[in-house]
Amino acid sequence: MNDHRRLGRELDLFDTDPLMGAGLPYWLPAGAAVRHALEEYIRDAERRAGYRHVYSPVLGKRELYEISGHWSHYSEDMFPPMDLGGEQVVLRPSLCPHHALIFRSRSHSYRELPLRMAELGGMYRSELSGVLGGLTRVRAIQLNDAHIFCTLEQVAEEARAALDLIRRAYHALGIRPVRYRLSLPGPGGKYVAAPEMWRRSVALLTEVLEGAGVPYEAAEGEAAFYGPKIDVQIADSAGRESTLSTVQVDFHQPERFDLHYIGPDGAKHRPVMVHRSIIGSVERAVAHLIELHGGAFPAWLAPVQVVAVPVSEAEAPAAAELVRRCLDLGLRAELAGPEHGTLGARIRGARLVPYQAVIGPREAADGQVALRLRDGRRLAAMPAGEALSRIQAVVAARRTELWEEALAVSPASAG
Ligand SMILES: [Zn+2]
Repeated sequence: MNDHRRLGRELDLFDTDPLMGAGLPYWLPAGAAVRHALEEYIRDAERRAGYRHVYSPVLGKRELYEISGHWSHYSEDMFPPMDLGGEQVVLRPSLCPHHALIFRSRSHSYRELPLRMAELGGMYRSELSGVLGGLTRVRAIQLNDAHIFCTLEQVAEEARAALDLIRRAYHALGIRPVRYRLSLPGPGGKYVAAPEMWRRSVALLTEVLEGAGVPYEAAEGEAAFYGPKIDVQIADSAGRESTLSTVQVDFHQPERFDLHYIGPDGAKHRPVMVHRSIIGSVERAVAHLIELHGGAFPAWLAPVQVVAVPVSEAEAPAAAELVRRCLDLGLRAELAGPEHGTLGARIRGARLVPYQAVIGPREAADGQVALRLRDGRRLAAMPAGEALSRIQAVVAARRTELWEEALAVSPASAG
């Protein structure tokens, strides 16, 4: 299988520089385009599922993490605090405490629950330099995170809906999980000591997994310090397993932050927090997608979706016009003109681009394009407008197929 670090360099997706530091990759334009498409997809899916997005800062005061419990249970994974005029601030190890404060900043009625708060936000982990590499072991993480503040009765349905979002995302991305894991606490002082709380939340998540009908395995010592998790596991090119998606139940942080909502009885009640992530960290998700697709991303994720290839200099203006029309439609398109080599070389150079629009003298004169699909299929020449609207439809629907079978002609008959 493919190693995402090698492909990342070869395809100009991402890289690192010793001066920026180990575990702090930067994204080149092609990689940034993939990441942007992925983030847009996530925001759109969340919006449709009733989430509302917030932004919160990547730093917080040390006291914030003392209240959340990160300071006592998680400090070895945190960056050391920075002293700012007698005040200590920390690069955040998670988004949860910020979201708890945002929830607490306004009063909430039971009618607003479940309140689904989402953010694609930065967080930091003080990984040792020896284990850093590629996009999978990094110190700066962009997390697809959300917290659902709800009543105890709403937890199971919210967790089920989150699993559903995860499954739909995997379908659009072509990802197959290797297993579902019910992550339980283990021995040692890492976990919040509240036996009744653990019992209730484990029972809830077990019910969700049973109800979803997915086979799962229980694993001790894999829970978050504040509660158990459903983890969706994937494997990398070397067969190493890691967690991509997660759904967690948390009674602890609502208690610590003294969160409440006003119930139908006019009194204050404590909400439960469901933490969930559809694709986990953007870095790990893109690393997995690179390996999974070998750089040949589904059209909606591809860094360049359409390449316009004029046969000769005479068709270059028509090809440039096609690129402009693609850009107007929101498609990512590039021109591969004769200055980039022979026709064959230009087509080979664009082998990972889902759609190659070859424009010869006849196509240029008639306003047509002859599409070659990445999988080798060649389509008969068609009006450029029709070709682009078909491509746009595939991209907008985030289909993994490149084209509708009925319209494709075999390479042989297309000559
Ligand atoms: Zn959280």
